[in-house]
Amino acid sequence: MAILHRGRNALRLPSIPVYRPKLPPARLLLPYLERADAVRWYTNRGVLVRELEARLSDALCGGPGRLVAASSGSAAIEAAILAVAGRATATRPYALVPAYTFVGTALAAQRCGYIPWLVDAAPSGWAMTPDEAADCPALAEAGVVVPVAPYGQAPDQAGWSGFVARTGVPVVIDAAASFEALARAPGAHVGRVPVALSFHATKAFSTGEGGAVAWSDLAGLARVVRALNFGFLASRVSQAPGLNGKMSEYHAAVGLAGLDCWDATTAANELVARGYRVAAGRLRERLVLAPDIASNYVLFCATDAIEAARVRAALTEAEAGHRAWYGRGLHHEPAFAGAPRGELPHAERLGACLIGLPIAPDIATDAIARVAAAIRGAVTA
Ligand SMILES: *Cc1c(COP(=O)(O)O)cnc(C)c1O
Repeated sequence: MAILHRGRNALRLPSIPVYRPKLPPARLLLPYLERADAVRWYTNRGVLVRELEARLSDALCGGPGRLVAASSGSAAIEAAILAVAGRATATRPYALVPAYTFVGTALAAQRCGYIPWLVDAAPSGWAMTPDEAADCPALAEAGVVVPVAPYGQAPDQAGWSGFVARTGVPVVIDAAASFEALARAPGAHVGRVPVALSFHATKAFSTGEGGAVAWSDLAGLARVVRALNFGFLASRVSQAPGLNGKMSEYHAAVGLAGLDCWDATTAANELVARGYRVAAGRLRERLVLAPDIASNYVLFCATDAIEAARVRAALTEAEAGHRAWYGRGLHHEPAFAGAPRGELPHAERLGACLIGLPIAPDIATDAIARVAAAIRGAVTA
């Protein structure tokens, strides 16, 4: 327990959560929910899901018809894999995935029958790039590649489109947190490689649980719709592998209300990022935050594992939450301990050194100051 001594008063500090979602309040959902009640249609691509898809397609894809909603980011990745590559085969059993990512990336590939093959991050940046994937010894036996746009960076649509053209191996980009990157340049990051988004409550734009696939391939998007609905498309004949990954009308209501207040959310997030920059002072260059990454993250880059341990201890002492959002790398997770892989020095370094700091659209200025002070103390110690 951290105690702050001010004169004779000992004050227990309130703990600061690493992330505190702020979704639209219930009263803003009500008009949408009443529309679902009026038609008594609660899932299976009702009016609210279709309206959300239309608004998101305009906002993210620069035009209509290029986005399909899903029940989660994981379902979106899975359906996109099924739509672009199908299930694993005997001759192509592997999915190349970055070792440094959230476990959801590899789990989605696994559920499509693939064995995740863990690929290192590039020496600079945080991502598995097309070069790393092209150099992977398992490429000839890979049925799909699932790169990640880490922490909501813009997905590398051009780079991965080139990779598909050169290698013939299909790609799905897990851009789970990249809503804002897509919204800043509608259409620029949407192309022949499907992009999967998550609308989980810890993402900047959220439907509670939810996700979407953004893709310029209209026949491909129809296969996404089919994969998300048991392999059904325009009939009750299961034509291809699938799952139940449909977004419900209730979740779509949250998304529509979230879009209604998105400008205010953005303004609040910008204030928070500015507050962090000011509070960080000379540590500013060690922080990564919006707009370079999604506004649901602020990351501290430690120089090595020893400094990272000191910073984590100082944050814990200050009752400030912190999290390795992608863990220490998939190779440290028991579920993937046996996954085939090459050397992973860069994933290892990122897993040790990147620390997620507390953030929320309405985080208090004094909370940010306390986080910054804790880090300053640990770094100069
Ligand atoms: C959030 C996230 C996911 C999972 O999305 P869900 O909506 O929780 O299923 C997958 N990959 C990455 C990189 C994520 O950040």
